[in-house]
Amino acid sequence: MIESKPKVWFVGAGPGDPELMTVKGQKLIAEADAILFAGSLVSEAAMRWAGSGCEIQDSKGMDLDAINDWLIARAHKFSTVVRLQTGDPGLYGALIEMAQALDKESIEIGVVPGVSSAMASAAAGVESLTLPEVTQTVILTRVEGRTPMPAGESLLELARHHCTLCLFLSITLLKKVQSELYAAGWAEDAPVLVVHKASWPGEEKIIRATLADIREKCRAEKINAQAMIIVSPALGARQWPELKKSKLYDKTFSHRFRKAIKPEEVMS
Ligand code: SAH
Repeated sequence: MIESKPKVWFVGAGPGDPELMTVKGQKLIAEADAILFAGSLVSEAAMRWAGSGCEIQDSKGMDLDAINDWLIARAHKFSTVVRLQTGDPGLYGALIEMAQALDKESIEIGVVPGVSSAMASAAAGVESLTLPEVTQTVILTRVEGRTPMPAGESLLELARHHCTLCLFLSITLLKKVQSELYAAGWAEDAPVLVVHKASWPGEEKIIRATLADIREKCRAEKINAQAMIIVSPALGARQWPELKKSKLYDKTFSHRFRKAIKPEEVMS
């Protein structure tokens, strides 16, 4: 039996630069009969590749029920409907709330991943979120604001791991970020990277600061939305005089594609 193609596609539009959309995402946009996009971030991508007869709608101002009704109505009418989401659809995007509504109508869905703003922000700063023997873990999270955090996921608890933290949806809560990180043992001079509109052509802003002065610096630059906060012991490593080298490229470390040589055989 040939599997039928999904009708409604949740497509990750990437962080802002239309060129960071996947090829698969572009193809689906070009094929789409109807596109519902989330905010100005992805409108350009929608316009760039959509066919002339495609119905294009901004979901700004629509609540979840209105979004679901829109998608269901188009899915009954058309063969390809796209819901364009910022970054990756699986992060803070209400994917499951929409998927459940479509499942109830037995409408087939598919998801195309996208470049998350966390990755685009690290790229903007030329930072590696993992560094050998410094941190090998990345936590994608947010600070509790109006949306409550589940038990065990307060920033204070997560920050105790002293690994890389990428904070979404938290730029207006920098005071809380500071106090919870201090309470978790981070130093005042711990480096912080804030990227506003990562990858947006001509609009990206990169702020480098310490935990102590991040609020003033963001205030001075008037950054109060669309920003990623990254705190990590690996930030700024490009400037470090000495690094522990990744084992992957270590001459004395075997892996699937390369046999190690003995340490005494290593030439400097
Ligand atoms: N699904 C998206 C996240 C949506 S939640 C993703 O994977 O990136 C919205 C939050 O994402 C914003 O509050 C901000 O913290 C972050 N964000 C989205 N686009 C951004 C961008 N271009 N630059 C910096 N942060 C961004």
